Amino acid sequence: MNNVARVLNGIEIAAGIKAEVGAEVRALKAEGITPGLAVVLVGHVAASEIYVRSKVKTSGEIGIRSEMHTPPESVTTEEMLALIAELNARDEVDGILIQLPLPKHVDTRRLLEAVSPEKDVDGFHPINAGRLQSGRPALEPCTPAGIMQILKRSGIDVAGKHAVVLGRSDIVGKPIAMLLLNAHATVTVCHSKTVDIARYTRDAEILVAAIGRPGFVTADMVTPGATLIDVGINRLNDAVEVERFFPGDAMRAKQFAERGSTLVGDIEPGAFTKSGAYTPVPGGVGALTIAMLMHNTVKAAKARRGRS
Ligand code: NAP
Repeated sequence: MNNVARVLNGIEIAAGIKAEVGAEVRALKAEGITPGLAVVLVGHVAASEIYVRSKVKTSGEIGIRSEMHTPPESVTTEEMLALIAELNARDEVDGILIQLPLPKHVDTRRLLEAVSPEKDVDGFHPINAGRLQSGRPALEPCTPAGIMQILKRSGIDVAGKHAVVLGRSDIVGKPIAMLLLNAHATVTVCHSKTVDIARYTRDAEILVAAIGRPGFVTADMVTPGATLIDVGINRLNDAVEVERFFPGDAMRAKQFAERGSTLVGDIEPGAFTKSGAYTPVPGGVGALTIAMLMHNTVKAAKARRGRS
C-alpha cells in the first residue's frame, strides 16, 4: 500500500491564529487598549527589510499599532541601548523587536538583554528562556512556539513520543527541545558534534530539523510514519541542485526559471513521502513565525496590564 503523507499547511494554521489574535485585539480596543509593537531595523539588509515589512503589514491587518525605528548601519551599541531604554519606558509600546542580524560592531547579546523581559516578544531574553525552562509562563520564541501550534492544531500528540531535534541554537533548537519536553515528549538534541546522527533520526517519531543544511536529512534517515518538521530555509541557486532535490517537479523548475532560485528545507523532499505528516518548505513552519509574533505582542499587552 502506498503511504500518503499528510501536509501540515502552515499558511492555513497561521491564518487561524491571526484571526484569533485579531479578535483579541478588537476586544482589547473596545476597552481602550491598543497593543503596540516597536520594530528596530538597523541599516539596509535586504532580507531583514522584507521580514520587517511583512511584520509591520501583518500588525496593521490585525489592528496592532506598529512603529519602525531605523538607525543607520553606523549606529553604536550605546545609541541602541538608549533607544531600547526609551522603548522600555514608553507605556504604549507592548512589544520590542530588534531585527537580527545586527552589524558586527554592535553587541547583540547586550542589546537583547536590555529589552525589558515583559516586552521581549521575540522571547530571546534570558529571563524568558529561564521561565520556559522551568515551565513557567513566558514569552516564547516565535518559531518554536509556531511549531508547537502546528503539532497541536494538527492533532499530533507529543506526550510520550520520542522527539529528535537537529540543531541547538538559542533561537530554534534549544527552545523547541524545551517546549517538547514540557509537553512530555522524550527529547534528543543533536548538533554538529553528534556522532552518527542517523542513529537518532531513525528512532524519531517527531523529527525537527533546524540546522540550515539543504536536504541534510535523507529518506534513509527517517522512520516510516514519522512526523517531520522542517525549519530550514535554504536558497538553491544551482539548476543541478534543484533537479537533485526536486526531480521531475515542473512547478519548481518553472519557479527556478522565473526567479533564479528556489527554497529547500533541511529535509530532502524525497523523505516526506515516507512520513506520516510533514511541514513543506515554503508554506510550513516559516508561515507561523509572524503569526506567533502577533500572538506574543497581544500576550505582552495583556500581561503588562495584569491579565492572562
Ligand atoms: P544556527 O544558529 O546556525 O544553528 C544551527 C544549528 O545546527 C547549530 O546548533 C549547529 O550545531 C547545528 N548544525 C549545523 N550543521 C550541522 C550538521 N551538519 N549536523 C548537525 N548539526 C548541525 O541556525 P538557526 O538560527 O537555528 O536556524 C536553523 C535553520 O532554520 C536555518 O535554515 C534558518 O534559516 C531556519 N530558520 C527558520 C525560521 C523560520 O521558519 N521562521 C526561523 C529561524 C531559523 P553546533 O551548535 O554544534 O554548531
